[in-house]
Amino acid sequence: MDLVGKLQRLSDAFGVAGFEDEVREVIRDMVAPYVDSCEVDPLGNLICTRGTGEAVMLDAHMDEVGFMVRWIEEDGFLRLSPLGGWDERIIPGHRVTIRTRSGEKRLGVIGAAPPHILKEEERKRVIPLEDLFVDVGAGSRTEAEELGIHLGDPATIHYPFREIRAGYVTGKAFDDRAGCLAAIEALRLLSGEELPYRLVVNFAVCEEEGLRGAKAAAYRIAPRLALALEGTIGADFPGVPQAKQPVRLGQGPAITLADRSIIVSPRLVRFLEETAEREGIPYQYKLPAYGGTDAGAIHLERGGILAGVLSVPCRYIHSPVSTLFLSDLEATIELVVAFLRRAGELLG
Ligand SMILES: [Zn+2]
Repeated sequence: MDLVGKLQRLSDAFGVAGFEDEVREVIRDMVAPYVDSCEVDPLGNLICTRGTGEAVMLDAHMDEVGFMVRWIEEDGFLRLSPLGGWDERIIPGHRVTIRTRSGEKRLGVIGAAPPHILKEEERKRVIPLEDLFVDVGAGSRTEAEELGIHLGDPATIHYPFREIRAGYVTGKAFDDRAGCLAAIEALRLLSGEELPYRLVVNFAVCEEEGLRGAKAAAYRIAPRLALALEGTIGADFPGVPQAKQPVRLGQGPAITLADRSIIVSPRLVRFLEETAEREGIPYQYKLPAYGGTDAGAIHLERGGILAGVLSVPCRYIHSPVSTLFLSDLEATIELVVAFLRRAGELLG
C-alpha cells in the first residue's frame, strides 16, 4: 500500500478520544512486521517495542476530536458533548457518524434552522454546541434506542479521505494520524537496521482530552529521550498574518521551540536542526507558543524526560476537512528516520 493509501486507511478509521479501538487495530496491523512486540496498556495505549537497551520513545496520538451522545430528547433528537477542542462555528450543517455499543455506525445530520425562519440577529449568532442537535430520523427516544443509540456513544463528523489534487489531500483526522503514519513509516524504513537502544513507539489515547494516554505510557516506558509526532496548525491562508501562522504548508516538518505544554530543551532543538541540515531535509519552526502536545505530559514524568516535538503541517485541524501536502509528510518521515539513526548520541 502506498503512502496515500495508508493515510486514507488511518484517517478514515473511527478513533474519537476514549474510543480508539478501531484505529488501534489498523495501526497494529501496519506495524506488526517491524516490531518485536505490541502491548495494549489499561488505558488503551498501543505500545510497540523493538530492540533492547535504554528506551527512546516516539509518540503519536491515535485519538481525534469528536463528540459523545449526551442526551436523547423525547422526540428522538440527540444532544452532544464535545470530546476535544471544537470551534462551535463549524459544527452545524454536517453529517455525523455515531458508533453504537455493538459497533454499528449510524448516520445523522447536525441540523440548523434555515434562514427563512430566523431573525437577522439570530443568523449572525454562533449556535453553542449544547443547543445543537443530531437528527437520526428517529421519531421518539424509543426509536433512537431501537437504532442502537445509547447515552455515551461516540460520534464524529466524517467526510471520507479525498485527494484534492495530486499530492494534496483532505481527511478528518490528520491530527494526528499523520503523526501515526510518520511513526509507522519510520519503523518500516528502519526495519532490520541495528539501533543502539530500545525503540518504543507509543500510539497514545486521549491526547485531545488532556494528554492523558501519553502521561501513563511515559511512566511505564521510562524513556531517556522522547519525540512526539504531530499533525499541527498550518495557518498559511487568507486572513492570517504571517507572524501568526504557527506553521506553513510546503516547508517541511516543523520543529517545536515551545508550545503551551513544553519549552523544548535547546539541546534537542539544535540536534533536530543539525540532523535536518546534514540530510538536506527542509524544516521550519512551529512558532511559539500555540497548542499543547503529548511531549508536555511526557517530559514531566519520572525524574523529567528530554522530549521534543516534530510535526507535519496540516491546515484546518479540528475540523472534518484537514489537509496536507504529501511532500511535507514525506520530509517528516525522512527527518524522523534520520533522527532515530543518530538518537543514540543523545543518550551518552
Ligand atoms: Zn494532535
